[in-house]
Amino acid sequence: LEEGDGHWIVTLREASSGIEQIVHAKAIVNAAGPWVARLLEKLFAKKPPLDTRLVKGSHIVVPRLHSGDQAFMLQHSDGRVIFVIPYLDDYSLIGTTEAEFDGVLETVHIDEDEIAYLIEVANGYFKRQLSREDVISTYSGVRPLIDEEGKDATKVSRDYHLEPHQSALPLISIYGGKVTTYRTLAEDVMRALAPTFPKMGAPWTKLAPLPGGNYSALFDGKKEELESGGEAKASAEDEAALSALLSAQAPWLQASLLKRWLQTYGTDTQTLVGNASSASDLGIHLGADLYSREVDYLIAHEWARNADDILWRRTKLGYLFDERAKAVLADYITTARGAVTEGVD
Ligand SMILES: Cc1cc2nc3c(=O)[nH]c(=O)nc-3n(C[C@H](O)[C@H](O)[C@H](O)COP(=O)(O)OP(=O)(O)OC[C@H]3O[C@@H](n4cnc5c(N)ncnc54)[C@H](O)[C@@H]3O)c2cc1C
Repeated sequence: LEEGDGHWIVTLREASSGIEQIVHAKAIVNAAGPWVARLLEKLFAKKPPLDTRLVKGSHIVVPRLHSGDQAFMLQHSDGRVIFVIPYLDDYSLIGTTEAEFDGVLETVHIDEDEIAYLIEVANGYFKRQLSREDVISTYSGVRPLIDEEGKDATKVSRDYHLEPHQSALPLISIYGGKVTTYRTLAEDVMRALAPTFPKMGAPWTKLAPLPGGNYSALFDGKKEELESGGEAKASAEDEAALSALLSAQAPWLQASLLKRWLQTYGTDTQTLVGNASSASDLGIHLGADLYSREVDYLIAHEWARNADDILWRRTKLGYLFDERAKAVLADYITTARGAVTEGVD
């Protein structure tokens, strides 16, 4: 990163290919999550004034603990609460833990004592007792909290803070935050940058539907509701209406596959179905209920680049794929991405 004449000069390097690209920017937002402070330190070769408190949170996935669709909030003897949430069709998701983290962010993983802790809380409440062997998978993340010295990890604020960098050109770093407040956070960042962009328009995202949630474009009633100040949220009726619409349009589509697509892609399922007119238009069968049509869609519309993107980050089909099927999928993606890149060229 360099300061140019009235703009930043940024060298972006893609980690997987090493390809570099130089861009000029009037302002920079450092939204590197848990890496926020480390990135500043790397860029300016000194410790930033504000540090992060890194707190790891882990989850376990076990065979379904209860048949209903309720989520349970369980309190442990230490006062903390954990959730037990129905997960996909066959599993329960249990989490999370809170543990100070000073390890390598790129390889964060659950520890055995976290697994034992989560099992202990669940076993204190559910008739069905879990053991270590029931843990089908785990995942962990790291919360970049604002460092409030002397405070216990569970007590540190979950609020966000925008930290301007002391430089002639604007650079704002985001510390903390939650998914639930991301739009407010983003609007705050834009307000802070307004002096740099005097022609900037007013905030507009409050009622804008998220990708896959654009029911107002589908159903007239929804549009009126939205225009009269209603919530852009889809109701169960909207979802049922979309399901009926697509079942009529593509009667050859298996009901279970349509259900998974609707749960995963919402209104974008229409783009995914596109002009397919028979089961053979789903393309090559790649395992479980994954066909090449969905993989092509994820590459073209959701930046999928490898098998893990598809099996874990865009879907949870990873639970149903063995190593061989995953290798076949990886080969398919390499070929398909080559075709997409050629198309772009
Ligand atoms: C265990 C856990 C539980 C949580 N529970 C909740 C919850 O219940 N509700 C809620 O609202 N929020 C929750 N959160 C918080 C929520 O996950 C975060 O607020 C949210 O993910 C932050 O999004 P982000 O895009 O700002 O950062 P991130 O999702 O962390 O993304 C930062 C990105 O920056 C990239 N990056 C870093 N350095 C560089 C670099 N040098 N160059 C290029 N890219 C870089 C990283 O690869 C990453 O993709 C939880 C977080 C954790 C860890």
